[in-house]
Amino acid sequence: MEKTFVRCIIRGEERRGLVADGAVYALNAPMGDGAEPGVRLGTLDEVERYLPPTSPTKVVAVGLNYRDHATEVGLPIPEEPLLFLKPPTSVVGHGEPVIYPGVMTKRVDYEAELGIVIGKRCRSVPPEDALGYVLGYTCANDVTARDLQSKDGQWTRSKSFDTFCPLGPFVVSGVDPSDLEIKMLVNGKVVQHSRTSNFIFPVPLLVSHISHVMTLEPGDVIITGTPAGIGPVKKGDLMRVEIERLGALENRVE
Ligand code: MG
Repeated sequence: MEKTFVRCIIRGEERRGLVADGAVYALNAPMGDGAEPGVRLGTLDEVERYLPPTSPTKVVAVGLNYRDHATEVGLPIPEEPLLFLKPPTSVVGHGEPVIYPGVMTKRVDYEAELGIVIGKRCRSVPPEDALGYVLGYTCANDVTARDLQSKDGQWTRSKSFDTFCPLGPFVVSGVDPSDLEIKMLVNGKVVQHSRTSNFIFPVPLLVSHISHVMTLEPGDVIITGTPAGIGPVKKGDLMRVEIERLGALENRVE
């Protein structure tokens, strides 16, 4: 069954909640299948601030996972997932600003991505068991200083600035991730539009592959690559990631 989880400030208090019918209910258990709505905290309109829906020990990112994006950048379809990391300090929630590090970079890009949130400690799991370790899914934006990617020859600096990993607003469990519509809008204009059915490596394979490299802890996030249509933003631009069933993640560049 589909369940929508949130972390937010509501009525002046930091809460973890379950969202149903436009209202936020207190969680009586950890986020997951066993969670039932408790006391009603208020409506979504009364949320004062969204916090990142999870506090990952790491964000594992996949470099090239949409056939349309591989074609766009002229790269061959990879034989295995290309991985890199974004630090927990890059994570911000829905509505938080993304800070443009103008001293170091002259080109900052959006990248709309499906985020996988891990629910149970996960190590060396086969693909057929992998979905059992997933709590749910969220919208992600893999903000990237594009000029530094080529300048540095590796991706740590370009992907790791504070605020370069917006996540949220929700984690939604019970969703089939295999064919979800995904969009990026900049100032209301659609600039990326694809479906997760274009993944080169589907969700179970990604979770399994990464779990054979490093232990995935509850709350860790895998961001699953971006579709065609990457491009730059400037200060003042509003980035909006929309994923079917998962809501919309908005962050303004400052
Ligand atoms: Mg990316």
